[in-house]
Amino acid sequence: MSGNSSMFRPASYREASARTLRDTPEVRDSVGSATRTFDALRTKAYAEVDSDRWRDWAQDVKAHALTNLDEYLEQAEQSLVANGAHVHWASSADDVRRLLEAIVVEHKVRTVVKAKSMLSEELEVNAYLDTLGVRSVETDLGEYIIQLLGEPPSHIVGPAIHRSLEDCRALFHEQLGTPMDADPDELAAAARAALRGDFLAADLGISGGNFVAADTGTIALIENEGNIRLTTSVPRIHVALVGIEKIVPRFEDLAGFLQLTARAATGQPIGLFVSLIQGPRTADEIDGPEEVHVVFVDNGRTALYEDDTAWEALRCVRCGACLNICPVYRQTGGHAYGWTYSGPIGAIIAPGLLGLDRALPLPHASSLCGACVDVCPVRIPIPELLVHWRERTVEEGRNSAGERLAMRSYAELAERPNAFSKAGEALRWTPWRAVGKALPVLSGWMQEREAPSPSPKSFRDLWREGIE
Ligand code: SF4
Repeated sequence: MSGNSSMFRPASYREASARTLRDTPEVRDSVGSATRTFDALRTKAYAEVDSDRWRDWAQDVKAHALTNLDEYLEQAEQSLVANGAHVHWASSADDVRRLLEAIVVEHKVRTVVKAKSMLSEELEVNAYLDTLGVRSVETDLGEYIIQLLGEPPSHIVGPAIHRSLEDCRALFHEQLGTPMDADPDELAAAARAALRGDFLAADLGISGGNFVAADTGTIALIENEGNIRLTTSVPRIHVALVGIEKIVPRFEDLAGFLQLTARAATGQPIGLFVSLIQGPRTADEIDGPEEVHVVFVDNGRTALYEDDTAWEALRCVRCGACLNICPVYRQTGGHAYGWTYSGPIGAIIAPGLLGLDRALPLPHASSLCGACVDVCPVRIPIPELLVHWRERTVEEGRNSAGERLAMRSYAELAERPNAFSKAGEALRWTPWRAVGKALPVLSGWMQEREAPSPSPKSFRDLWREGIE
């Protein structure tokens, strides 16, 4: 089995996004409304603090941690082992699956409860557990909704934001017997009641990890519902799947990152629940798991790390702020992107994690407006990284034959002043409104736009007139 599943289909982005816009316009309404709300809350929350200084600090700490990643990972391992946790290293999704299978077999696991973890989505953990005959239950409300629907997440923080309240009412009515006019509190209560039995029945709880402090071996998890705390403390075994980039050097760094991430993600000063997990239950504690396994996962991150430019994307804290402000993401939500991470952050890590050939055309799914870099709490230069992957696409000859021909033709023309002038003249008299709609690329652009009227005089004519 390959490290990354064939279920990921970024290559069909163009068709999938066109299909979403054409066939399910309500997705744009739901996603647009939710992301605008998230973004307004973030703006307010940033304004309440000296967010520029916080973001500079966060950028520096993350950059320092990544620059010394091997050292901090070793330190984290030592700290976690000293706390009584088991530490595993997984270079691929297959490694993670083998580890989970060993735990499932050894402990005769029949039911797993899961906290929201994008890494577990990336690794397709639920599908794999299914092949082992293990029932996995998502316990985050958004994840629970999409699990009932059989859909992947549409957003890294709000997995079900593409769905309306009416969709959820119909789903819960069908699956949990709630009234068709149930209010959101009633829906949440129904999910809570259904999940309570699963928490008590589960042998294994699987979570991600927002951060791991290397000096104390502390796994930090942010949430608003309390389900992560139950997932990590009720079952006998807790497995935390953590990307190798989630390390921060010191426990005290968590104070800044927990607040900044919550402000960027949902506009909260801090998540309603923060779990700081040190290891398994000790003799004098009345709850907590008997075993804690921390799995540090690579799955393509080293490839990203080794890229002199793209490594900056590893600073990401998965807050979703860049998705919320992105005018392209807002049109379709995440499913059109064809894999776990959508929007601007997805477009810059896909080439590293999946390989550039499988990630295309995601680095092109952006207008390069730069709004994402203005909101990113760790100041990842997203537009620069998008351009970086576009350059690599050209250098490796992966751009289309049509684009190569167009660029070569332009270069030839631009080197011949007379021909360039005549071509410009011809273009100025071309009836673009009619012709553009018949040409590839331009026809797509002009579906929603009118071509501007050409200037009666060329720039060169105007320049000449101006200096004579
Ligand atoms: S790239 Fe920045 S804004 Fe986007 S999810 Fe990551 S940390 Fe948040």
